[in-house]
Amino acid sequence: MTGPRRGPGTRAVRAGQPEPRDEAPFLPGPTFAAPYHLSGEVGSRVDVYGRDDNPTWRGLEAAIGELEGGNAVVFPSGMAAATAVLLELSQSGRPVVLPSDGYPAVREVARDHLDRRGVPARLVATEQQAIVGALADVSLLWIETPSNPRLDVVDIEVVARAAHDHGALLVVDNTLATPLGQSPLHLGADLVVASGSKHLSGHSDLILGYVAARDAARAQQLRAWRTLTGAIPGPFEAWLAHRSIATLEVRLARQCANAAAMAELLAGRPEVSLVRYPGLSDDPSHGVACRQMQIFGSLVGFVLPDREWAERFLDQAELVVQATSFGGAHTTAERRARWGSTDVAEGWVRLSAGIEDTGDLVSDLTHALDAARR
Ligand SMILES: *Cc1c(COP(=O)(O)O)cnc(C)c1O
Repeated sequence: MTGPRRGPGTRAVRAGQPEPRDEAPFLPGPTFAAPYHLSGEVGSRVDVYGRDDNPTWRGLEAAIGELEGGNAVVFPSGMAAATAVLLELSQSGRPVVLPSDGYPAVREVARDHLDRRGVPARLVATEQQAIVGALADVSLLWIETPSNPRLDVVDIEVVARAAHDHGALLVVDNTLATPLGQSPLHLGADLVVASGSKHLSGHSDLILGYVAARDAARAQQLRAWRTLTGAIPGPFEAWLAHRSIATLEVRLARQCANAAAMAELLAGRPEVSLVRYPGLSDDPSHGVACRQMQIFGSLVGFVLPDREWAERFLDQAELVVQATSFGGAHTTAERRARWGSTDVAEGWVRLSAGIEDTGDLVSDLTHALDAARR
C-alpha cells in the first residue's frame, strides 16, 4: 500500500484485497481446483496443479504479508508451518533453542523428528537472560512471546541481536499477539510462525497456519517444502480466514477490553493467588509489552486454590464456555494442567476473552467465582 501508514483497522479491512473493479466481488470466492487447464509447455505458469499453488492462497498470503511486513506462506495448520520451519531451516550438527514453556507440540516435533536428524534441542524458559545465554553454536532460536500459557514476554529486539551475533535465525511464534498486536519482523526477527486457527480467523471453525519471512528466498524455500510434502491448506479454509481478517481489529479491540476487565476483577479476588495479563501495570511482562506490543491480547491466566476449585468455577460459568484453544468470538476457559504437557499449577485457568459485552462477562465471572467458593 502506498501513502502514509494507515491505522490497523484500515489495514485489516483492505489487506490482500484486489483493486476495486466494477462488477467484481470485494473478495473473490475460493478457487477449487486439482488440475487447472493446461496446454502445451508449462513454462513459468503458476496455476498448474492444486498442490503447487492456488489463487485463494495467494490472496490470503498477500493479506498476511501486508500485516506482518514480510513474505507469507500459508499452511494447513500452525503445526504444519512450525514443522516446515524446524525441519527445513535447522542445520544438522547445530542445536536449536526452543521454549520449555511454550506450545507443547513444537518441542515434541523437536523430540521426535529433529534429534534423530542430528539437531539437538535446547529447551529454555521464556526469559531474556536464559535465552541469550543458550545461543552458542545454535542455528535457530525459536521464541513464543507472549508465551502460552504463562504469558511471559521477552524483548524481541534484544534476542534478535543476540541470535544474529551467533549466526542464528530468530523465529517468533506470533500466534498470541497477532500481526496487529506485534510486528516481530520489524523488531529484527527473520521469521514469524503462527496458527491462523486462533485470532486470525477468530470464529473457532477452522485450522490454518502460516510463516512470514523477511527474506523472499526463504519464503520460496518453505513454499517448495509445502509443494513437495503436500502440507497444503484447503482453499475454503484459506478463503474463510481471509474474509475474517477484515474484522480482526474490531474483534481484538473488544477482546482486549474484555480481557483487561476480567483481569482487573480477578486481581481483586482473595481466592485468586496469581493473575497474569501483560496489560496489568504490576504484571512482570508489562514493561516489555508496553514497548513492543500495540495491544495486550485476549488471554488471561489465573490460579485458583486447587483443581476441584477450578473445576467448580468452570462448571458454574455460563458465558465462559469450556474449550481449549483461544482467540475466538466466544469467551472460553480451561484448566490448563488437564493436558499434563504444561508445568502449571493444578488450579491454573487459561481464559480467552471473546467479544461479548463486557458487563455480561464481568457478571458471569463474578457469579462463577462466588459459586465456586462454596
Ligand atoms: C495453536 C498454537 C499453535 C499450533 O497451531 P495449530 O493451528 O493448532 O496447528 C502453535 N503455537 C501456538 C502458540 C498456538 O497457540
